[in-house]
Amino acid sequence: MSGTFPSDKRIQMLCSALSNAEGKSTPINAPFTGKKLYDLPTGTAKDVAAAASKVRLAQVAWQASTPAARKAVLLKAHDLIVKRREDLLDLLQSETGKTRGQAFEEIFQSASVARYYALSANRVLRSRGRRSAIPTVLRARVNYQPKGLIGVVTPWNYPLSLAAMDVIPALAAGNGVLQKADNQGALSVLALREAFVDAGLPADLWAVVTGDGAEIGDAINDVSDYICFTGSTATGTKVGLRAAAALRGASLELGGKNPMIVLDDVDPVKAARAAVYACFSSMGQLCVSIERIYVLRGVAEAFTTEFAKRTRELRQSAAFDYSSDVGSLTLPSQLKRVEEHVKDAVDKGAKLLAGGQSRPELGPLFFAPTVLTDVTSEMRCSGNETFGPVVAISVVDSETEAVIVANDSEFGLNSSIFSGSVRRARRIAALLHTGSVNINEGYRASFSTVAAPMGGMKSSGLGRRNGSEGLLRFVESQTVANATGYIRLPNTGAEFSKLSGLLLILLKTLRLLHRK
Ligand code: NAD
Repeated sequence: MSGTFPSDKRIQMLCSALSNAEGKSTPINAPFTGKKLYDLPTGTAKDVAAAASKVRLAQVAWQASTPAARKAVLLKAHDLIVKRREDLLDLLQSETGKTRGQAFEEIFQSASVARYYALSANRVLRSRGRRSAIPTVLRARVNYQPKGLIGVVTPWNYPLSLAAMDVIPALAAGNGVLQKADNQGALSVLALREAFVDAGLPADLWAVVTGDGAEIGDAINDVSDYICFTGSTATGTKVGLRAAAALRGASLELGGKNPMIVLDDVDPVKAARAAVYACFSSMGQLCVSIERIYVLRGVAEAFTTEFAKRTRELRQSAAFDYSSDVGSLTLPSQLKRVEEHVKDAVDKGAKLLAGGQSRPELGPLFFAPTVLTDVTSEMRCSGNETFGPVVAISVVDSETEAVIVANDSEFGLNSSIFSGSVRRARRIAALLHTGSVNINEGYRASFSTVAAPMGGMKSSGLGRRNGSEGLLRFVESQTVANATGYIRLPNTGAEFSKLSGLLLILLKTLRLLHRK
């Protein structure tokens, strides 16, 4: 089935759900054509304040609703995401310029997240007893309370998946959400929200505001009880500092310079074929995509030759069907950055094995997937995130050398190991300083596993999304403990003198019995 750009009527309908007051607008272009897609209404800090009041009111009722009711909404939303996939795919492609296949990954991810939290939130957040210091004399339980209003700031590269991974667990935990959707991904976010509202989510519980990044972002940060940010390390650091000054928690999902290690026990041709997707999916505009490959000498030549060949064979076009393998970059600033990184590398002596130039015959923001070798540390693409379709292949002489160079980065988001032995790869994985490690895959094995935590070490961020970790960031734990009165706790010196012997026996017994 083939899609198309959304109609003006559809765009208008989606924009009517924005919490922005009528007023200013920003033209949004379609990456495939460079032509204006629509005028996005843009909001202000005042809109954020007004939306926050409504979200807070709606949140009180949502928190009081039963877990079963919340679960039903999330499951229905899952079904609507799947049912409305063609519309969502059209919107995603129109805003990001990615292929239909790569847009489909976002549908799959969003639906998976909705199902996962619908079915797991209640179990994770159920109030539970904990062993007290003096069994039977004291009792303790832990409750989880929603934090209240969760601020969510999402970028343009994966508007659906990245919104889903923050917004859905926040709602599942009983919170309201105030989101700043990136201007370039707003329609996709609004269509996702529409599915939730049609599934029964109170409309005021999830507000979306668009506008200037710093103005709206700061305003959301200031009115939230917790803030989730996905974007660059530079902006994420500002968001984190602002939140910290108010003693507000934050999860920060930031940049990466993700390495892949190719061991010498692989079939180099097979490995090269699988590795290509990890570098060029969504034109490399993915936080977890691979930008550095370290291949062991024994398979280096065969791997590199096949990798470059497969890259050159990728079908690139602005197709609203599944006929293309790679699409367009999303923004002019992205094209500029990619061109600069490649030119700088080539000027300084890097060798081009594939790509290296823009493809204006396909559209204004198309750039050919690019493979470089002989990249050295003084080149900009060496340590800095390109966030584009550019990968550097280097040869290493040992597993140890591969681990050292892979870890030699300020970032620590994702990594990948190709090996004929999963056991060997798992052993190496434990040595890599990254939040996820994919074996015989680039990023999809971990990224799609919504039951497992996802996030970065070092400058790649703070906190984790997905899994129970991704849910627990949205609640406050509260310990409720009581004295049963079977034995009165000692208060005076005389009482301590009587009871301390007994308490010492208790300590020794618990230690002997290995009881926590
Ligand atoms: P960016 O940091 O420039 O912008 C991200 C968002 O933050 C935008 O919507 C922007 O308007 C907004 N913003 C700007 N100032 C703000 C402020 N003061 N407070 C709050 N929000 C503010 O990033 P980008 O260039 O749009 O996205 C690409 C970057 O995001 C890359 O570095 C990439 O690696 C990273 N990223 C990380 C993940 C992850 O999960 N770790 C996922 C996707 C993208």
